[in-house]
Amino acid sequence: MAFLDIQHLEKSFGPTRVVKDFNLDIEKGEFVSFLGPSGCGKTTVLRMVAGFETPTSGAIRIDGREVTGLAANRRNIGMVFQSYALFPNLTVAENIGFGLKVAREGKAATARRVGEMLDLIGLPQLGGRYPFQLSGGQQQRVALARALAPRPQVLLLDEPLSALDAKVRISLRDEIRRIQRDLGITAIFVTHDQEEALSISDRVVVTHRGVADQVGTPFEIYNRPATRFVAQFVGTLNLLDADVLDATTGKVRLGGVPVALDQPLNGRPGERISLAMRPESVELGRSDCDRVVLSGEIAAVHFLGSVIRIKVAVAGQFVSLDTFNQPDRPPPSVGTTVEVSLPHRDLLVLAA
Ligand code: ATP
Repeated sequence: MAFLDIQHLEKSFGPTRVVKDFNLDIEKGEFVSFLGPSGCGKTTVLRMVAGFETPTSGAIRIDGREVTGLAANRRNIGMVFQSYALFPNLTVAENIGFGLKVAREGKAATARRVGEMLDLIGLPQLGGRYPFQLSGGQQQRVALARALAPRPQVLLLDEPLSALDAKVRISLRDEIRRIQRDLGITAIFVTHDQEEALSISDRVVVTHRGVADQVGTPFEIYNRPATRFVAQFVGTLNLLDADVLDATTGKVRLGGVPVALDQPLNGRPGERISLAMRPESVELGRSDCDRVVLSGEIAAVHFLGSVIRIKVAVAGQFVSLDTFNQPDRPPPSVGTTVEVSLPHRDLLVLAA
């Protein structure tokens, strides 16, 4: 059995079902992100795991023990919030030692553990300061140390980086991952930021309208999105109209060109479907037998730094493609006539 097991979890507030048949198995030591837009129910699932919210139905088990009806303070869970939620009148060391004091740990053991935690978060000199004397990033590290000090079985992080600026966000997310790995603790991380979720997670749960649309590794979620929502929410995507020629053999017409997809389709001849492709799969030029070649005109060029995103108008639709910046080769200009090629095997037919 999985270490953290969520089965058929449901939550309604009045008549509104905000979490619907949510199922998930998390292995010990795994780092799992809940990714989804605002209001999709990810925080509500996290709060039910923490014990701050009672499920309408379903079960949550941690290490074989059912905790569904158990009070939050009896679940052995550590939680970090977006707002840090440090006690303003306690020092950093007292904040970190708070849970140990509640658990009636001895003074010497508490001091030792607080010292270990200060080292773990890289702030060994700051135990005597008060929260208002720390930067946002430092406060969030202290909140992490406070959550970890009582040695919880599970660490829950609710958008812990959202209040921080971009640079601090990236360095702290790497640090959270390092600490989680070092301790081997099972963690759930809630975020609406797809780059954050993809960059640090073992697996990502993409949540949409209270349902887990897809659970997979970042690689699977990005390259094999199970639904149209996942494909559009995670990363940039080209959606291209095509007409079915023969569904059983996967033949379609795309931009006036017949294309044989690797997969059978649903749909009658002449029916319009949409095909998805990531911009990095599309290239300028390069015609070979595994690629569909379409001619078009460059409609926009976005210089993003290491990557240049080029938008090409092709037979009444747009195809975006990414190329790497090369210092000795400026990008083509808007209005240039070009050929774009798309590999057959990377064209995805998406479920609704
Ligand atoms: P966000 O990132 O904005 O927090 P979320 O995906 O975490 O979004 P939740 O906070 O889980 O979403 O909320 C899901 C839905 O449940 C929302 O529509 C929200 O308004 C509603 N909701 C959450 N808590 C309550 C509550 N205590 N009473 C009534 N409705 C609630």
